[in-house]
Amino acid sequence: MYRTHTCGELSMQHVGTTVTMAGWVQTIRKFGSITFTDLRDRYGITQLYFNEMLNARLDKTPLGREFILQVKGKVVERSNKNPKLTTGDIEIEVTDFTIMNSAATPPFTIEDDTDGGDELRMKYRYLDLRRPVLRKNLELRYKVNRSVRNYLDTLGFWDIETPFLIKSTPEGARDFVVPSRMNQGQFYALPQSPQTFKQLLMVSGYDRYYQVVKCFRDEDLRADRQPEFTQIDCEMSFVEQEDILNTFEGLFKHVFKDVKGVDIKEEFPRMTFDDAMWNYGNDKPDIRFEMKISNVKALNKVYCDVLNSVDFKVFSDAETIVAISVPGASEYTRKQIDELVEWVKRPQIGMSGIVNVKCNADGTYKSSVDKFFTEEQLKSLAGFCNAKPGDLILILAGAETRTRKAMSELRLEMGNRLGLRNPDNYKPLWVIDFPLFEYDEEDDRWVARHHPFTSPKPEQIALMDDRSRYGEIKANAYDIVLNGTEIGGGSIRIFQRDLQEKMFAALGMDKEEANEKFGFLMGAFEYGAPPHGGIAFGFDRLCALLGGQETIRDFIAFPKNNAGRDVMLDAPSAIDDKQMTELNLQAKDA
Ligand code: ASP
Repeated sequence: MYRTHTCGELSMQHVGTTVTMAGWVQTIRKFGSITFTDLRDRYGITQLYFNEMLNARLDKTPLGREFILQVKGKVVERSNKNPKLTTGDIEIEVTDFTIMNSAATPPFTIEDDTDGGDELRMKYRYLDLRRPVLRKNLELRYKVNRSVRNYLDTLGFWDIETPFLIKSTPEGARDFVVPSRMNQGQFYALPQSPQTFKQLLMVSGYDRYYQVVKCFRDEDLRADRQPEFTQIDCEMSFVEQEDILNTFEGLFKHVFKDVKGVDIKEEFPRMTFDDAMWNYGNDKPDIRFEMKISNVKALNKVYCDVLNSVDFKVFSDAETIVAISVPGASEYTRKQIDELVEWVKRPQIGMSGIVNVKCNADGTYKSSVDKFFTEEQLKSLAGFCNAKPGDLILILAGAETRTRKAMSELRLEMGNRLGLRNPDNYKPLWVIDFPLFEYDEEDDRWVARHHPFTSPKPEQIALMDDRSRYGEIKANAYDIVLNGTEIGGGSIRIFQRDLQEKMFAALGMDKEEANEKFGFLMGAFEYGAPPHGGIAFGFDRLCALLGGQETIRDFIAFPKNNAGRDVMLDAPSAIDDKQMTELNLQAKDA
């Protein structure tokens, strides 16, 4: 038997027992003729004590970091207890040991606070995974997975696998393609999601489907994305939007409780897309804090009289003026404000400055544009921005889209600076009533905001006959947002052939192309397709959020780097000539 106990389970109650343990040597501390060693495995760390006699053996066959060591010994109470370790009350008085395998010196320290850089750790990912932080992340991932499966199982969902070698599914990204040897000159696409398959399963009558499944999207990898990522993918039949929201709100509550011990009793708020954009500047609002955006002047929708009467070019020339009232920040120093101005001037934000109004606690106002505004005007501006004494109003002015986006970022930044974005404070919400279409300026055409299988609001279907009104049509589509991050989205689907055809036509696909690409789905709709809808959650991102971290990479056992490379395998890489010939492929000279 290799071991009687793991390295994470022994405590005072085991004192006196004889045990056999095996694991990795974490540290070796030699004090004269005795040695202490920490032995590590997935379960924890246990201290070993080697007496003088064994030390003589150790001198002949020394231990090294990460050696695989098996020891026999007795559990004894430690004189010098370590309250940080679960096994910190005891140690093992070793009576015999075997070095089961030696190890080269690891290229970085296997500790949470490691000295290894990102690339190095990715190259030796199997060593990096030994670090307790990563082990905890993967444990959390496993627990979330198990929790999701248990919940869906109780509701009668079936886990059904769908193929990876398929034909393109349009989810808005480029496909990864796989050449076919048996059908030369032809390619499979890897699924961007199992979208069409889960819909076909509904046509087959399977009613409730889910899968924890890999999806592949060949996108630029900015913003912490991975070319292959995992979704919790779900679909249900005979449901309306309300049924989906309730079912999956239940799922989230279950997972929060099960994995984090957090009991969310209230219903998740629901916010329309328009309200989210208007009040928070984006469609994934972080509602852990208020600081809503005031639309001081926005495309003729609201116009503040005060601004109208003041001759201040920065405002009068601006398409949009938006403001936030930062609570308790009226005492910001000149330096702090200058810092914020520099912050919005960075190219990622792209503004030329901030106008600020300090609403002093004594009821007076002080502004960076005092010479244009009277105290009375500042007061009514403050009223318009819902500012209270003690607040600092930050105002951005400029072109609509850029200014709104910048304000949304500035709001989040102020949330960070004020410590209002505690990762342990979970504030989920549903964003609903998304637009069906989005105008793609670059390609000069309408595209599906979610995907082309999403159903318009039934009462707006008629608008699909009038291209000039596409922008008004709302979809039966919804996202779930947690702490400013979209963690899932879905829709009620089109399930009639004629409406699906109309949708493809609206997206600029002629009948022939639609048939060639999606004939299988539209064909299926002719054989008794039930009304259906679904949702998919970004599993990696959900785990990262539940782990209180931002990068998904640390929650994936073997991730790719920012260039989409697996640096451990050195992939992607060229394939040999024989494979190229078999596939009838030829690489162009770069
Ligand atoms: N397939 C969609 C996605 O990957 C999710 C859904 O509509 O269910 O975003």
